Amino acid sequence: MKRLRRPFVGGNWKMNTDLASAVELAEDVASGCAKYVEHCDVAVFPPFVYLQAVGRALGNHGVTLGAQDVSHHPNGAFTGEISTEMLLDLNVRHVLVGHSERRHVIGEENELINAKARAALDAGLAIVLCIGETLDQRQAGQTDAVTTGQLRAGLFGVPAAQMARVTIAYEPVWAIGTGRMALPAEAEEAHKAVRATLAAMYDDALARQVRIQYGGSATPAGVKELALQPNIDGGLVGGGSLKAAVFTQIVAELVAAHSPLRTAPRKD
Ligand code: PEP
Repeated sequence: MKRLRRPFVGGNWKMNTDLASAVELAEDVASGCAKYVEHCDVAVFPPFVYLQAVGRALGNHGVTLGAQDVSHHPNGAFTGEISTEMLLDLNVRHVLVGHSERRHVIGEENELINAKARAALDAGLAIVLCIGETLDQRQAGQTDAVTTGQLRAGLFGVPAAQMARVTIAYEPVWAIGTGRMALPAEAEEAHKAVRATLAAMYDDALARQVRIQYGGSATPAGVKELALQPNIDGGLVGGGSLKAAVFTQIVAELVAAHSPLRTAPRKD
């Protein structure tokens, strides 16, 4: 059965690369992924200072440009911040909001994350809203309460008309950068709860359209299994996105798993 949703893979480079290696990585990702972009959206999220160079290096192979954060203020005396207009100036299309490192290392709260999400959407950008539970929360049986709480808070006030530009990234905090991917069943259960909450917040039809990426120590082999789950629509990849060959293989696995030519029927 053909899936409703086109897969989406993002590469979050975090605070890595230098100018030369960022450009080289972008060129290699752009050429490596060129044959997959017909079937899959692919974006890279380099550090702010390399956005322009990476945008140029990506050229017109179909891989798009994203930023790792954005200010909710339009402009003014906000030292060190980057506005939506600045990002649009550099042809940035997507912005990560609520990444676990910004929540748990930098201390961003739901209210600020919501303000960033709304500012980005109002400016015409697409967002990837990252949500996920810590290990303690999972062990306390709070996974769905945490993720759906972050989802509701992050999207508070976002109208249905803007939801086509919203992707959710389910990223269990205990899986990020740890080498421990969620099991397919664990991830699918969390994605299903997120989709059910989207249906409650909006409606079933809208919930079926929203893409939910998995993030956390993704590898090509791991993604192969995860991508077969009906509610997993792609990945947000950190460490694995710093090597073009690994990232491209992750994209290839996603495309293969989502191919309408697959004979195994799948429920959507
Ligand atoms: C991330 O930071 O979004 C992420 C998923 O990182 P990693 O793949 O390194 O776990």
